[in-house]
Amino acid sequence: MADLTPLEGKYLTGGWHAADATYDVIGPLSGDAIARAAHCGPDEAKAAADTAWEAFQSWRTTTAFERAELLRTWHDAILANAELLARTMTREMGKPIKEARGEAAYAASFVRWYEGEATRAYGEVFPTAAGHKRGLALRKPVGPVYAVTPWNFPAGMVTRKAAPALAAGCTFILKPAEQTPLTAMLLAELWREVGGPEGTLQVLPTNDPAAVTAPLMEDPRIRKVTFTGSTEVGRMLYAQSAETIKRISFELGGHAPFVIFDDADLDQAVRETIACKFRNAGQTCVCTNRIYVHEAIADAFTAKYVEAAKGLRVGDPNDDATDVGPLVDAAGLAKVQDHVRDAVAHGADVALGGETQGDLYFLPTVLTGVTPDMRMMQEETFGPVAPILTFANEAEAIALANATPYGLASYVYTNDLGRAWRMAENLEYGIVGINDGVPSAAHAPFGGVKQSGIGREGGPWGLDEYLEVTYVSMGLGH
Ligand code: NAD
Repeated sequence: MADLTPLEGKYLTGGWHAADATYDVIGPLSGDAIARAAHCGPDEAKAAADTAWEAFQSWRTTTAFERAELLRTWHDAILANAELLARTMTREMGKPIKEARGEAAYAASFVRWYEGEATRAYGEVFPTAAGHKRGLALRKPVGPVYAVTPWNFPAGMVTRKAAPALAAGCTFILKPAEQTPLTAMLLAELWREVGGPEGTLQVLPTNDPAAVTAPLMEDPRIRKVTFTGSTEVGRMLYAQSAETIKRISFELGGHAPFVIFDDADLDQAVRETIACKFRNAGQTCVCTNRIYVHEAIADAFTAKYVEAAKGLRVGDPNDDATDVGPLVDAAGLAKVQDHVRDAVAHGADVALGGETQGDLYFLPTVLTGVTPDMRMMQEETFGPVAPILTFANEAEAIALANATPYGLASYVYTNDLGRAWRMAENLEYGIVGINDGVPSAAHAPFGGVKQSGIGREGGPWGLDEYLEVTYVSMGLGH
């Protein structure tokens, strides 16, 4: 695939169609329009539902091996176009190019995993209480799926959902974030190019997500909704799902604590807290929002942390050397500024940064003297701001870490095996990274508890989300 130009202003239902209306996709680097995207509405959504339903009737009857083979070729096509995908992500949302390349590989890894998983959607034969009966559990695709994805991982959040859905035999309608329709369209075009049947994967870009979403949520033929984004929008989709009792998987907001004990390897903890905090300019749901350091090592940790953060290169995200690029848009920057202003007004000290640089850049920032009443302790900052707090003992660390409605990712640095187990068991989080600041992988269960979500993506757990169980009770005669 050479470029995106032929797809401008189009949406995919069955084939590509030119939309009646379009909107400008704004690149954060220049602030200018970088492309036109289709502005779909309820009519396009209804057409997509019809197409998804029709395509499901044949897609669900293909063999798992045929679906696996298509996923394998899609995976290869994604890797063959990794540089184009990476450049597109960087243009759309400002992710540094080296991270965008990593995301292209991460996105492909889910397709690779579900290529294998497709052929392992085993049913079961189980013992029954009656000797003349046999019990079977068949596993079937849920049905047509509606997916809503965020801008911060424009490729990874698409394949993490689409690959298991397609592997299971579901058809898939995708509504990408307003900021990042182009990456989603490229992925869908690659699926078509490798022979993905019409209607199995559809894309509805729009600047009005609620208008496209409403008919799909009302349609009983759409059997499942999968969403990654804010808790606020997730709550709304949860309520809308109730009407037709849809299956749901929600990956929502996070407020990740990073707990560093005094027995930890300090240099490793610094290195990984830097990576965890500043990748994607702090705009990930698993970025740490609260760094809790044992009081005995707080000064030493802070000094090393500030030094390491000073070494991060802020700049043009297209440059291979850039570590921190711009924030996605003006609203994102305003939130980061508000959080830092609020913290400083309530007594936090700025150990590094604290300022904007150019239009959408916020310098890597380290704050000390942060207290639980500050806004950044309750809401996701979604920016390159590292608040450092202290704790005195394990019980206090657990209490502080759990004192949030969120429960997505958490991190613990310790070399004490007993403590590592206790922390893993007592932290109310879907993910606990023990001496690991980057735990997400295609073969692992990713997801949150509490108000961070429902369901898991990755591994066999991710496939289960797209499968129903049919109990077959078979009488053998008396
Ligand atoms: P967002 O909730 O505003 O948007 C996410 C998606 O929801 C977009 O596609 C958007 O168009 C759509 N949307 C917005 N309003 C809608 C409506 N009324 N009806 C239907 N769809 C609607 O979130 P965002 O700002 O794009 O992304 C950042 C958020 O996503 C953060 O909270 C972050 O933590 C979360 N996130 C979570 C994960 C995870 O796996 N848990 C991963 C990435 C991002």
